Amino acid sequence: PKAPPVAHYNLNNVTITSDPLGNRENILLLTPMARFYQQYWDNLLKLSYPHELITLGFILPKTKEGNAATTELQKQIAKTQKSGPEKDRFKSIIILRQDFDPPLQSQDEAERHKIQNQKIRRAAMAKARNSLLFTTLGPATSWVLWLDADVIETPSDLIQDLAAHNKPVIAPNCFQRFYNTEKKAMDERPYDFNNWQDSPTAVELAKKMGPDDILLEGYADMATYRALMAYMHKTDGLRQETVPLDGVGGAALLVKADVHRDGAMFPPFSFYHLIETEGFAKMAKRLGWQPFGLPNYKVYHYNE
Ligand code: GDP
Ligand code: MN
Repeated sequence: PKAPPVAHYNLNNVTITSDPLGNRENILLLTPMARFYQQYWDNLLKLSYPHELITLGFILPKTKEGNAATTELQKQIAKTQKSGPEKDRFKSIIILRQDFDPPLQSQDEAERHKIQNQKIRRAAMAKARNSLLFTTLGPATSWVLWLDADVIETPSDLIQDLAAHNKPVIAPNCFQRFYNTEKKAMDERPYDFNNWQDSPTAVELAKKMGPDDILLEGYADMATYRALMAYMHKTDGLRQETVPLDGVGGAALLVKADVHRDGAMFPPFSFYHLIETEGFAKMAKRLGWQPFGLPNYKVYHYNE
Protein backbone atom coordinates (compact mmCIF):
# COMPACT_ATOMS: atom_id res chain seq x y z
CA PRO A 1 0.00 0.00 0.00
CA LYS A 2 1.09 3.54 -0.78
CA ALA A 3 2.11 5.80 2.09
CA PRO A 4 -0.43 8.52 2.78
CA PRO A 5 0.34 11.82 1.04
CA VAL A 6 2.14 14.37 3.15
CA ALA A 7 1.58 18.05 2.52
CA HIS A 8 4.85 19.92 2.87
CA TYR A 9 4.76 23.61 3.61
CA ASN A 10 7.91 25.57 3.93
CA LEU A 11 6.96 28.51 6.11
CA ASN A 12 9.94 30.37 4.67
CA ASN A 13 8.12 30.40 1.33
CA VAL A 14 5.01 31.97 2.82
CA THR A 15 5.85 35.64 2.52
CA ILE A 16 4.36 38.38 4.69
CA THR A 17 5.15 41.62 2.90
CA SER A 18 3.95 45.16 2.35
CA ASP A 19 2.83 44.05 -1.13
CA PRO A 20 0.56 41.07 -0.42
CA LEU A 21 -1.21 41.52 -3.75
CA GLY A 22 2.01 41.42 -5.76
CA ASN A 23 3.18 38.37 -3.82
CA ARG A 24 -0.23 36.65 -3.88
CA GLU A 25 -0.36 36.29 -0.10
CA ASN A 26 -3.26 34.48 1.58
CA ILE A 27 -5.51 36.42 3.92
CA LEU A 28 -7.55 34.83 6.69
CA LEU A 29 -10.48 37.13 7.46
CA LEU A 30 -11.97 36.30 10.86
CA THR A 31 -15.28 37.50 12.27
CA PRO A 32 -16.97 36.63 15.56
CA MET A 33 -20.63 37.15 14.72
CA ALA A 34 -23.62 37.49 17.05
CA ARG A 35 -25.81 39.28 14.51
CA PHE A 36 -25.79 39.31 10.74
CA TYR A 37 -25.83 42.67 9.00
CA GLN A 38 -26.35 42.77 5.25
CA GLN A 39 -24.11 45.87 5.04
CA TYR A 40 -21.24 43.87 6.52
CA TRP A 41 -21.57 41.25 3.78
CA ASP A 42 -22.00 43.85 1.02
CA ASN A 43 -18.87 45.59 2.28
CA LEU A 44 -16.91 42.29 2.21
CA LEU A 45 -17.94 41.72 -1.38
CA LYS A 46 -16.58 45.16 -2.27
CA LEU A 47 -13.08 44.38 -0.95
CA SER A 48 -10.73 44.81 -3.90
CA TYR A 49 -8.19 42.23 -2.70
CA PRO A 50 -8.57 39.09 -4.90
CA HIS A 51 -11.26 37.03 -3.21
CA GLU A 52 -9.60 33.80 -4.35
CA LEU A 53 -6.82 34.66 -1.86
CA ILE A 54 -9.22 35.28 1.04
CA THR A 55 -10.48 32.59 3.41
CA LEU A 56 -13.37 33.63 5.63
CA GLY A 57 -13.82 32.27 9.14
CA PHE A 58 -16.82 32.88 11.40
CA ILE A 59 -17.79 31.90 14.92
CA LEU A 60 -21.36 32.35 16.08
CA PRO A 61 -22.87 31.73 19.50
CA LYS A 62 -25.39 28.92 19.98
CA THR A 63 -28.20 31.25 20.97
CA LYS A 64 -31.50 32.03 19.26
CA GLU A 65 -29.89 35.15 17.87
CA GLY A 66 -26.80 33.21 16.79
CA ASN A 67 -28.96 30.64 15.01
CA ALA A 68 -30.77 33.37 13.11
CA ALA A 69 -27.46 34.98 12.13
CA THR A 70 -26.08 31.60 10.97
CA THR A 71 -29.10 31.09 8.71
CA GLU A 72 -28.71 34.58 7.20
CA LEU A 73 -24.98 34.13 6.76
CA GLN A 74 -25.39 30.76 5.04
CA LYS A 75 -27.96 32.25 2.69
CA GLN A 76 -25.54 34.97 1.60
CA ILE A 77 -22.65 32.50 1.33
CA ALA A 78 -24.68 30.24 -0.97
CA LYS A 79 -25.55 33.24 -3.14
CA THR A 80 -21.97 34.48 -3.39
CA GLN A 81 -20.16 31.15 -3.72
CA LYS A 82 -22.60 29.38 -6.02
CA SER A 83 -24.73 31.68 -8.13
CA GLY A 84 -22.85 34.98 -7.87
CA PRO A 85 -20.12 36.24 -10.22
CA GLU A 86 -16.91 34.21 -10.07
CA LYS A 87 -14.77 37.19 -9.01
CA ASP A 88 -16.87 37.61 -5.86
CA ARG A 89 -16.21 34.07 -4.64
CA PHE A 90 -13.89 33.55 -1.70
CA LYS A 91 -11.24 30.85 -1.53
CA SER A 92 -13.01 28.99 1.25
CA ILE A 93 -15.36 29.66 4.14
CA ILE A 94 -15.43 28.10 7.60
CA ILE A 95 -18.29 28.50 10.06
CA LEU A 96 -17.89 27.52 13.70
CA ARG A 97 -20.49 27.44 16.42
CA GLN A 98 -19.40 28.41 19.90
CA ASP A 99 -19.89 25.28 21.96
CA PHE A 100 -18.72 26.40 25.36
CA ASP A 101 -21.27 27.51 27.85
CA PRO A 102 -22.87 29.38 29.22
CA PRO A 103 -23.42 31.27 25.98
CA LEU A 104 -23.64 35.01 26.45
CA GLN A 105 -27.17 36.20 26.50
CA SER A 106 -27.96 38.77 23.89
CA GLN A 107 -27.37 42.26 25.14
CA ASP A 108 -28.06 45.61 23.61
CA GLU A 109 -25.29 48.17 23.29
CA ALA A 110 -26.02 49.88 26.65
CA GLU A 111 -26.26 46.56 28.52
CA ARG A 112 -23.06 45.04 27.13
CA HIS A 113 -21.07 48.20 27.81
CA LYS A 114 -21.96 48.22 31.55
CA ILE A 115 -18.74 47.89 33.51
CA GLN A 116 -19.92 44.93 35.66
CA ASN A 117 -20.79 42.96 32.51
CA GLN A 118 -17.50 43.64 30.80
CA LYS A 119 -15.14 41.10 32.37
CA ILE A 120 -17.43 38.12 31.67
CA ARG A 121 -18.28 39.40 28.20
CA ARG A 122 -14.71 40.14 27.24
CA ALA A 123 -13.53 36.73 28.53
CA ALA A 124 -16.20 34.97 26.45
CA MET A 125 -15.25 37.06 23.42
CA ALA A 126 -11.59 36.19 23.94
CA LYS A 127 -12.39 32.47 23.96
CA ALA A 128 -14.51 32.85 20.83
CA ARG A 129 -11.64 34.64 19.05
CA ASN A 130 -9.12 32.01 20.18
CA SER A 131 -11.30 29.09 19.04
CA LEU A 132 -11.79 30.77 15.70
CA LEU A 133 -8.11 31.56 15.28
CA PHE A 134 -6.69 28.18 16.35
CA THR A 135 -9.05 26.18 14.16
CA THR A 136 -8.56 28.23 11.00
CA LEU A 137 -4.96 29.50 10.89
CA GLY A 138 -3.25 27.47 8.17
CA PRO A 139 0.30 26.92 6.97
CA ALA A 140 -0.32 29.18 3.96
CA THR A 141 -1.83 32.11 5.89
CA SER A 142 0.19 35.33 5.61
CA TRP A 143 -2.15 37.82 7.27
CA VAL A 144 -5.10 37.63 9.62
CA LEU A 145 -7.70 40.36 9.27
CA TRP A 146 -10.03 40.63 12.25
CA LEU A 147 -13.27 42.30 11.26
CA ASP A 148 -16.30 42.52 13.54
CA ALA A 149 -19.69 41.64 12.10
CA ASP A 150 -20.98 45.13 12.87
CA VAL A 151 -18.21 46.93 10.99
CA ILE A 152 -20.27 47.80 7.96
CA GLU A 153 -18.13 50.24 6.02
CA THR A 154 -14.43 50.14 5.16
CA PRO A 155 -12.41 51.44 2.22
CA SER A 156 -12.41 48.74 -0.50
CA ASP A 157 -8.59 48.66 -0.49
CA LEU A 158 -8.57 47.95 3.27
CA ILE A 159 -6.28 44.91 3.11
CA GLN A 160 -3.72 46.49 0.76
CA ASP A 161 -3.81 49.82 2.64
CA LEU A 162 -3.20 48.23 6.05
CA ALA A 163 -0.58 45.74 4.85
CA ALA A 164 1.33 48.49 3.02
CA HIS A 165 2.57 49.68 6.44
CA ASN A 166 4.25 46.32 7.00
CA LYS A 167 3.49 46.40 10.75
CA PRO A 168 3.03 43.25 12.86
CA VAL A 169 -0.33 44.54 14.17
CA ILE A 170 -2.20 47.53 12.77
CA ALA A 171 -5.60 49.01 13.61
CA PRO A 172 -7.61 51.59 11.66
CA ASN A 173 -9.78 54.05 13.61
CA CYS A 174 -13.33 52.79 14.17
CA PHE A 175 -16.02 55.49 13.98
CA GLN A 176 -19.81 55.47 13.96
CA ARG A 177 -22.19 57.47 11.79
CA PHE A 178 -25.23 58.96 13.56
CA TYR A 179 -27.92 61.57 13.05
CA ASN A 180 -26.87 64.71 14.90
CA THR A 181 -30.12 66.26 16.13
CA GLU A 182 -28.44 69.60 16.92
CA LYS A 183 -26.91 69.96 13.47
CA LYS A 184 -29.95 68.27 11.90
CA ALA A 185 -27.58 66.32 9.69
CA MET A 186 -25.65 63.08 9.53
CA ASP A 187 -22.45 63.19 11.55
CA GLU A 188 -19.84 60.77 12.90
CA ARG A 189 -18.21 60.07 16.24
CA PRO A 190 -15.37 57.87 17.54
CA TYR A 191 -16.60 54.38 18.53
CA ASP A 192 -13.75 52.05 19.52
CA PHE A 193 -11.86 53.10 22.65
CA ASN A 194 -9.69 50.00 22.88
CA ASN A 195 -6.93 51.47 20.70
CA TRP A 196 -4.77 53.42 23.13
CA GLN A 197 -1.37 54.41 24.38
CA ASP A 198 -0.62 53.72 28.01
CA SER A 199 -0.49 56.43 30.70
CA PRO A 200 1.34 56.69 34.04
CA THR A 201 -2.09 56.79 35.76
CA ALA A 202 -3.14 53.46 34.21
CA VAL A 203 0.21 51.92 35.18
CA GLU A 204 -0.29 53.09 38.78
CA LEU A 205 -3.91 51.86 38.86
CA ALA A 206 -2.80 48.43 37.65
CA LYS A 207 -0.14 48.20 40.38
CA LYS A 208 -2.82 48.52 43.07
CA MET A 209 -5.07 45.84 41.56
CA GLY A 210 -5.56 42.22 42.56
CA PRO A 211 -4.11 39.59 40.20
CA ASP A 212 -7.47 38.89 38.53
CA ASP A 213 -8.60 42.50 38.19
CA ILE A 214 -8.70 44.13 34.78
CA LEU A 215 -8.42 47.72 33.63
CA LEU A 216 -11.14 48.83 31.24
CA GLU A 217 -11.19 51.76 28.88
CA GLY A 218 -13.98 54.23 28.28
CA TYR A 219 -15.50 54.20 31.79
CA ALA A 220 -15.81 57.42 33.80
CA ASP A 221 -15.36 55.69 37.18
CA MET A 222 -12.06 54.21 36.05
CA ALA A 223 -10.23 57.23 34.64
CA THR A 224 -7.02 55.92 33.07
CA TYR A 225 -5.88 59.05 31.20
CA ARG A 226 -4.62 56.82 28.44
CA ALA A 227 -4.19 58.51 25.05
CA LEU A 228 -7.05 57.16 22.96
CA MET A 229 -6.53 56.82 19.21
CA ALA A 230 -10.24 57.56 18.78
CA TYR A 231 -9.42 61.19 19.72
CA MET A 232 -6.19 61.45 17.71
CA HIS A 233 -8.12 61.71 14.46
CA LYS A 234 -7.54 64.93 12.50
CA THR A 235 -9.87 65.93 9.67
CA ASP A 236 -6.96 67.18 7.59
CA GLY A 237 -4.58 64.47 8.84
CA LEU A 238 -2.71 62.12 6.54
CA ARG A 239 -4.44 58.77 6.13
CA GLN A 240 -1.09 56.97 6.28
CA GLU A 241 -0.02 58.54 9.61
CA THR A 242 0.82 55.82 12.17
CA VAL A 243 1.02 55.88 15.97
CA PRO A 244 2.39 53.16 18.26
CA LEU A 245 -0.27 51.53 20.47
CA ASP A 246 -0.26 49.59 23.75
CA GLY A 247 -3.86 48.41 23.53
CA VAL A 248 -5.90 47.49 20.47
CA GLY A 249 -9.54 46.75 19.66
CA GLY A 250 -10.74 43.92 17.44
CA ALA A 251 -13.29 45.81 15.35
CA ALA A 252 -10.81 45.93 12.46
CA LEU A 253 -7.28 44.71 12.97
CA LEU A 254 -4.64 43.36 10.59
CA VAL A 255 -2.15 40.95 12.14
CA LYS A 256 0.85 39.23 10.54
CA ALA A 257 0.13 35.51 10.84
CA ASP A 258 3.58 35.04 12.43
CA VAL A 259 2.46 37.10 15.43
CA HIS A 260 -0.29 34.57 16.12
CA ARG A 261 2.06 31.68 15.22
CA ASP A 262 4.48 32.93 17.85
CA GLY A 263 1.65 32.42 20.34
CA ALA A 264 -0.02 35.80 20.65
CA MET A 265 -3.70 35.15 21.41
CA PHE A 266 -6.57 36.82 23.22
CA PRO A 267 -6.18 36.21 26.96
CA PRO A 268 -9.59 35.35 28.48
CA PHE A 269 -8.06 36.22 31.87
CA SER A 270 -6.23 39.14 33.39
CA PHE A 271 -2.91 39.44 31.55
CA TYR A 272 -1.02 42.44 32.92
CA HIS A 273 -4.53 43.54 34.02
CA LEU A 274 -5.66 43.49 30.41
CA ILE A 275 -8.11 41.15 28.68
CA GLU A 276 -9.07 40.04 25.16
CA THR A 277 -7.85 42.33 22.35
CA GLU A 278 -6.09 44.69 24.75
CA GLY A 279 -4.36 41.70 26.32
CA PHE A 280 -3.46 40.53 22.83
CA ALA A 281 -1.65 43.81 22.13
CA LYS A 282 0.33 43.34 25.34
CA MET A 283 1.19 39.75 24.46
CA ALA A 284 2.30 40.73 20.95
CA LYS A 285 4.50 43.40 22.50
CA ARG A 286 6.03 40.94 24.96
CA LEU A 287 6.84 38.71 21.96
CA GLY A 288 8.63 41.66 20.36
CA TRP A 289 5.90 42.75 17.93
CA GLN A 290 4.91 46.40 18.30
CA PRO A 291 1.26 47.25 17.48
CA PHE A 292 0.39 50.42 15.55
CA GLY A 293 -2.71 52.40 14.74
CA LEU A 294 -3.89 54.65 11.94
CA PRO A 295 -5.75 57.57 13.56
CA ASN A 296 -6.86 59.05 10.23
CA TYR A 297 -7.86 55.85 8.46
CA LYS A 298 -11.51 55.25 9.28
CA VAL A 299 -13.85 52.29 9.26
CA TYR A 300 -17.45 52.48 10.49
CA HIS A 301 -19.39 50.58 13.13
CA TYR A 302 -23.12 49.95 12.86
CA ASN A 303 -25.37 52.25 14.87
CA GLU A 304 -27.89 50.12 16.82
P1 GDP B 1 -18.72 46.09 20.99
O1 GDP B 1 -18.81 46.66 19.62
O2 GDP B 1 -17.40 46.36 21.65
O3 GDP B 1 -19.89 46.47 21.82
O4 GDP B 1 -18.74 44.48 20.90
P2 GDP B 1 -19.76 43.57 20.13
O5 GDP B 1 -20.85 43.12 21.03
O6 GDP B 1 -20.16 44.23 18.86
O7 GDP B 1 -18.88 42.26 19.82
C1 GDP B 1 -17.79 42.26 18.94
C2 GDP B 1 -17.99 41.23 17.83
O8 GDP B 1 -18.25 39.95 18.37
C3 GDP B 1 -19.16 41.52 16.91
O9 GDP B 1 -18.79 41.08 15.62
C4 GDP B 1 -20.28 40.67 17.47
O10 GDP B 1 -21.21 40.30 16.46
C5 GDP B 1 -19.53 39.47 17.99
N1 GDP B 1 -20.11 38.83 19.20
C6 GDP B 1 -20.71 39.44 20.25
N2 GDP B 1 -21.05 38.54 21.19
C7 GDP B 1 -20.65 37.33 20.72
C8 GDP B 1 -20.72 35.99 21.25
O11 GDP B 1 -21.24 35.72 22.31
N3 GDP B 1 -20.18 35.00 20.47
C9 GDP B 1 -19.61 35.26 19.26
N4 GDP B 1 -19.10 34.23 18.57
N5 GDP B 1 -19.54 36.50 18.75
C10 GDP B 1 -20.05 37.51 19.46
MN1 MN C 1 -19.56 46.01 17.91
